[in-house]
Amino acid sequence: MKQEIDWKELGFGYIQTDYRYVCRYRNGQWEEGGLETDATITLSECACVFQYAQTCFEGLKAYRTVDGRIVCFRPDLNAARMRSSCERLVMPVFPEEKFLEAVRMLVQANADYVPPYGTGASLYIRPFMIGTNSVIGVKPAQEYEFRMFCTPVGAYFKGGIKPISIRVSDYDRAAPHGTGNIKAGLNYAMSLYPITVAHEEGFAENMYLDPATRTKVEETGGANFIFITEDGTLVTPKSDCILPSITRRSLMVVAEQYCGMKAEEREVFFSEVPEFAECGLCGTAAVISPVGHIHDHGRDIMFPSGMEEMGPWTRRLYETLTGIQLGRLPAPEGWLMEI
Ligand SMILES: *Cc1c(COP(=O)(O)O)cnc(C)c1O
Repeated sequence: MKQEIDWKELGFGYIQTDYRYVCRYRNGQWEEGGLETDATITLSECACVFQYAQTCFEGLKAYRTVDGRIVCFRPDLNAARMRSSCERLVMPVFPEEKFLEAVRMLVQANADYVPPYGTGASLYIRPFMIGTNSVIGVKPAQEYEFRMFCTPVGAYFKGGIKPISIRVSDYDRAAPHGTGNIKAGLNYAMSLYPITVAHEEGFAENMYLDPATRTKVEETGGANFIFITEDGTLVTPKSDCILPSITRRSLMVVAEQYCGMKAEEREVFFSEVPEFAECGLCGTAAVISPVGHIHDHGRDIMFPSGMEEMGPWTRRLYETLTGIQLGRLPAPEGWLMEI
């Protein structure tokens, strides 16, 4: 393991590692692909990715387990979701088996950067695809690069798993019809302004409401919501405009099969939010970040679990999911890919 990295002090930042996986698409097909050591990319100024933002990405993690193995959490679902993103952005699909093979090659080659068990850190893997040839008329590129790099990361939000404050945004999450459920730079670029304003005002994230009626909860900039009722039902918003989080789908299974809770995916009206006992944000980066406070234009919703600790149900879900990821608890069939 890399001696110079202080694993316990890691934040969520980029640390360059030794190898990245690169595969190029030319003449209508994917080339062989393999590991490269150069972390820079040289492209035409007119590449489609620069002019028309033809790019999408994924995010997943590799963990060192309690018994010293290295595992990836549900990478097949990232491969499948990237397929949908590519289809919507008129990019060539990167085959699922090739995607999983790339994850294996990348993590094996950078195994020194997988943080030790017990530090709370993990290896974040970032697959992405870009349209690379010059395109000045509005149309999709004909050449592409599929790339995957990795970087060791610690907690996503400062303060680790301490509850955060968020606020209801006046802006819509940039998810024009049919793009909310793909993981793409276009949805993030338009969230940079509202997230900057939220941070300036002391909030960790924005809660976006549905743009048509502004009555229903959608998601935050980069994580889905979970709510928990007093009697332990996990409720998570159903919407065509939000990214189908793998963490959220996993938590629904964990709630029902490991925690004795009920799980519901349904429309959640903002007006019912104060009735929930607990609230959290879920995603690969944060796993679960408890929300203690939601600010809504001069009104404040405080969850009973408060600002000091995770609520008891959220903690149970968090401990169970991380227990599965770190090999302390038996994983459902197919959830861990051993490297
Ligand atoms: C990545 C992402 C999430 C979380 O999804 P996971 O698969 O759990 O990491 C939620 N919302 C948005 C907009 C995202 O980009």
